[in-house]
Amino acid sequence: MRFIKQETYFPIIIGIHFFIWTVDLYFYHGGFVETSSDTLFFGQMTNVSWFNVHRILGEVFSSWVVTVFAFNFLMATRARWVENIFGGLDKMYMIHRRSGLIAVFLLLAHFLIVPRDLVEFNPGKPLGFYAFILILLGVLLAALPFFKKRIPYNKWLNVHRLMGFFYCMGVAHGLMVNSLIRELPLTRVYVFGMAFIGIGAWIYRAFLYRFFNERLSYVVDRISHWDSEIVQISMKPMGKELGFLAGQFAFFRFRDISKSEQHPFTITSLPEEKDLRITVKKLGDYTSMLNEKLELGQEVDVEGPYGHFASKYIKEKDQLWIAGGIGITPFLSLARSEISAKIRLIWCVSSMERSAGLEELERMQDSNLNFSFEIWESSKKGHISIEKLGLVDIDKKGFLICGPEKLKDALIRELKRMGVKSKSIHEEEFAFR
Ligand SMILES: Cc1cc2nc3c(=O)[nH]c(=O)nc-3n(C[C@H](O)[C@H](O)[C@H](O)COP(=O)(O)OP(=O)(O)OC[C@H]3O[C@@H](n4cnc5c(N)ncnc54)[C@H](O)[C@@H]3O)c2cc1C
Repeated sequence: MRFIKQETYFPIIIGIHFFIWTVDLYFYHGGFVETSSDTLFFGQMTNVSWFNVHRILGEVFSSWVVTVFAFNFLMATRARWVENIFGGLDKMYMIHRRSGLIAVFLLLAHFLIVPRDLVEFNPGKPLGFYAFILILLGVLLAALPFFKKRIPYNKWLNVHRLMGFFYCMGVAHGLMVNSLIRELPLTRVYVFGMAFIGIGAWIYRAFLYRFFNERLSYVVDRISHWDSEIVQISMKPMGKELGFLAGQFAFFRFRDISKSEQHPFTITSLPEEKDLRITVKKLGDYTSMLNEKLELGQEVDVEGPYGHFASKYIKEKDQLWIAGGIGITPFLSLARSEISAKIRLIWCVSSMERSAGLEELERMQDSNLNFSFEIWESSKKGHISIEKLGLVDIDKKGFLICGPEKLKDALIRELKRMGVKSKSIHEEEFAFR
């Protein structure tokens, strides 16, 4: 059950803040005064009471920033209960990414609006300024496509983890400077409580995660190539087996390829099979090495399972599955698992060669009357669209889509335009940043 979606996440946070601040300010009779302060754009304030828009708004923005980043650190822990709230790790990371960007705008608003005490020097002030610059740079580095394309994922991740340290600087600033938050009982407990949770989550993820999180040992058992770009890897367990649902994914560390890198791949074997299988397409360095350098007998650490792209979470009895390229992987196990629904699978490829994957799907079609499958060759038919499929009873169907972002977004936009409810559209993101 997905409790929080992108559309509801921010209204919830705004609602919490609105409530806490309103209650606290309603009962506040304290004597906080701007003895002599200045704001970056709105001039100086002398002997102005706490009830001024710059003070209140400036601090409301800072309390949002604390909360949004605290939730972001909580998401990064990959805790099962957090994943469940957001309906899958991929969705959660998407919210993580977007809310990081929004938090930077809130931080900028705080920096521009909040009055600064001019009377006494407080080391919290320069600390806050440095935290602001570092968080700004950190988020731009994490989010701008320019950097994403140029910095390899693992190097990017190492830099990204420093965000927790910058956050600690920001929280220390909040503890040191004079503020209205420190005077308001509810807001104070909430903001510093959230800060404490955020810092705890960051410490756990950055330093303790590896000790607490179970990784299962497997060994590479079979390697077969679908074509020059796609390899299928089977692994047999060395001890405890991974329990998972068809359609889920896990993180794999192939120790002889890289000791530090861990990559997500969808499991294409069935939960009741002893061996784990993944199907990997060459995309960059790591996946190329898996295609070219992996050998039998090499050891693999597996962490998971994750994801909600699984039949347990999909209720519709009539389903259309659309896969783009390597986005076929979750459907390979979903199609072989026990499903009572009527399924039509469309696999969009630029052009099709015969492959083991295609043969597997043909076999499933022959053995299951409820499962039909077709190839959509875009070199011959153009881009796929829902309209071109001529579907009937569109509002009764469930749609499962996995593939390149552009294809996914275009189809989802079209489905929503045609009146399909969001809850009937299920998608899997193949990227976390
Ligand atoms: C939920 C999920 C399921 C996936 N299932 C499959 C699958 O079944 N088959 C398949 O071929 N691919 C799958 N992928 C994609 C696969 O993880 C990436 O193609 C692979 O990690 C790219 O690594 P690279 O070094 O070869 O390429 P790079 O060029 O370094 O990376 C390409 C992109 O892949 C992502 N990426 C790179 N490294 C990591 C990492 N360590 N962790 C997370 N993301 C990373 C980044 O978005 C990056 O921009 C899946 C991805 C996700 C998120």
